[in-house]
Amino acid sequence: MIRSIETIHESYINKSHTVTKVVTEVLDTITSKDGEIHAYTEVFREQALEQAQIIDTKLSQGGSIGILEGIPISVKDAILIEGYKATASSRMLENYTATYDATVITKLKNAGAIIVGKTNLDEFAMGASTENSAFGATHNPADISRVPGGSSGGSSASVAADMALISIGSDTGGSIRQPAALTGTVGLKPTYGRVSRFGLIAMASSLDQIGPFAHNVIDAAHTLSIIEGQDSMDATSAQLEQSQLLDIEGIRRAEVKGLRIGIPKEYFIDGIDADVRKSLDEVIETYKQLGVEFVEVSLPHTEYAVPTYYIIMPAEVSTNLARFDGIRYGLSELQQSQDLQEVYKASRAKGFGNEPLRRIMLGTYVLSSGYYASYYGKAKQVQDMIRKDFTEVFKEVDAIITPTSPHTAFKIGEKVNDPVAMYLEDIFTVATNLAGIPGISVPTLSHNGLPIGFQLMTNHFQEQTLLTLANAIDKIRYE
Ligand code: GLN
Repeated sequence: MIRSIETIHESYINKSHTVTKVVTEVLDTITSKDGEIHAYTEVFREQALEQAQIIDTKLSQGGSIGILEGIPISVKDAILIEGYKATASSRMLENYTATYDATVITKLKNAGAIIVGKTNLDEFAMGASTENSAFGATHNPADISRVPGGSSGGSSASVAADMALISIGSDTGGSIRQPAALTGTVGLKPTYGRVSRFGLIAMASSLDQIGPFAHNVIDAAHTLSIIEGQDSMDATSAQLEQSQLLDIEGIRRAEVKGLRIGIPKEYFIDGIDADVRKSLDEVIETYKQLGVEFVEVSLPHTEYAVPTYYIIMPAEVSTNLARFDGIRYGLSELQQSQDLQEVYKASRAKGFGNEPLRRIMLGTYVLSSGYYASYYGKAKQVQDMIRKDFTEVFKEVDAIITPTSPHTAFKIGEKVNDPVAMYLEDIFTVATNLAGIPGISVPTLSHNGLPIGFQLMTNHFQEQTLLTLANAIDKIRYE
């Protein structure tokens, strides 16, 4: 299987492959592997083949195609595609059909990408293992007794197992980067506001961001350049300045010599696997050989990132999920109930799994009038301090490097009954969302046979530098 969209694109143009052949190969891989992996909640076989046929006809008539045209991609089932189910892997939305396209879907459709299916997630994107799905866990293609990370674990697994070339996920506290690390794929969380969230089922709106999974950094860059940009349907989406737009040739060609990367001392805590540490040291060594300079930096409020996230995020969750009331959307116990209160209670009790319930309760508590100031108000102040930590550090360095996850993929069932252990999965990823900056996880060679990723972060809208640095290491894997 070819693992680069540029190479596939070339093969379409020089007619060594047809789109139908590539799409069929991906669909057949889904048929043979997905029984075991369960990355998909739904596969669009016929529609994908039909679309492939149309592009093949266009090509045979001498038509030109864009970089994503005819490329099989998968989409996290929290993103709306008109006319298809959007379940967020919840019983609440099990029978809900989207009535419009998310902006990223409109853009991908316009670019001619072929959506082969929707991927599994932790219910409403809450989790770090994809075990919280109401429709069963996703398994890691590298070792099916292990988790693929989460919440976008269906997306990461679909790319890792060659069941899609690209996947579109969402990241509120690490849900693109951590599953990328655990499956050996590239996962990019753009700057908050770079990609429209319109049509993403909201988890915590001030932190949510859509981004791509890919086999390599250049493919992720191509995908971002298609899906990014200001959108009148999302007031938080940003108008990109000319200098902030991606230049993919630039990413490929740029020298990293002289760039400065900060190593934040607070991230090098006890409890990082020896293998993860070793592979990061090797990455740093490789960068040094390429002329990158390293400096130790300090992000003093790092230890408060997870507690702060687990106040702000549930507060927004409790607000966002209030719309699931048994009347407006999804599962409804209206017929079985005596009065309005009962409709709410019965529909919500039946529709939500344990993790959304836990977060709704936590969020409602931290927003309640007696506790608002001491929890939510305080957390917003600490968020500001975390942001300022980054602002200070980016005066000195171009990027920051950390592990993406403290360890490799854990066993299915290992943490599922220990929510706090699961929350600590996000220890290296949540600060990025709290600060609104971009982050990427890039695979490295693992020592124990399981995938490992490292994380790079840059200042707001500095994706060009982020991807240039990421690509400098990534391309060595292919040399
Ligand atoms: N694992 C984190 C959580 O459970 C992050 C989830 C996400 O980014 N959607 O909240």
